[in-house]
Amino acid sequence: MTAMETAVESVALLPVGTLTIDQSILTYRRGPGDKVECPVICVFIEMADGEHILFDTGPPPALLDGTDKLSEHQRQVVCSYTQEDDLRHRLKSLGYTPGDVKLVINSHFHWDHSGGNYLFDHARVMVQAKEVRFAGMPDAFVDGAYTAALYETAAERDILSGDRMIRPGVLAIATPGHTPGHQSLLIALPSGRALILTGDAMFCPANIDPAIPPGNAHTPEDAIASIQRLKALAEFHGGDLVICHDPGLWDSWRPAPHRYI
Ligand SMILES: [Zn+2]
Repeated sequence: MTAMETAVESVALLPVGTLTIDQSILTYRRGPGDKVECPVICVFIEMADGEHILFDTGPPPALLDGTDKLSEHQRQVVCSYTQEDDLRHRLKSLGYTPGDVKLVINSHFHWDHSGGNYLFDHARVMVQAKEVRFAGMPDAFVDGAYTAALYETAAERDILSGDRMIRPGVLAIATPGHTPGHQSLLIALPSGRALILTGDAMFCPANIDPAIPPGNAHTPEDAIASIQRLKALAEFHGGDLVICHDPGLWDSWRPAPHRYI
């Protein structure tokens, strides 16, 4: 197989706080009542042409000043969020500011993935059409995760209808299930290594077993199919899955300012 052409220079994983998640959400109906501290990450993709990309924006940095627009329930889910977790601080550790981000790609519009979108009105926001439609009128049993005041910003939107080659080496993959319009990202690094940013398509490596999907998917059947697709893509490209909320994430990965190349 020939190496994929890529315009990516590096990828950095930005920790942006932790959440308290019930074990039965990580692993379908297993361990209800057991609380687990889970990371949240945004991913900075440094591009050779200077058109840098951010995948997800985490919980709102406004948590620190109390103007975060979160519901009481959402705020209770936040386990820790410090000054260092502020997305602006994380970007600074790489030598960048929010103004250097030209494209924000939201995996989906849940509050813990779109909370920092307000920092990027100057950029374009890329999201799946199905996510925009669903966020506007979510089913009642999952509507608590959407906060319009966070994902609705002045930024211009690029609306996708399925998979899209965004730039050489950056591929958006529609991964419905967690939400109807969820998407993940396949990235080709200059070294030839591939990374798959799963977003919330899965919560931990155990979800690769079709008998153990995440416990809070809008449509578990779709979630299982999306996870199998990500697994197959990872095998095909010799890639590694980067799972946003995996409690064991930092056992395998290094946070920014480390850059993967
Ligand atoms: Zn989510």
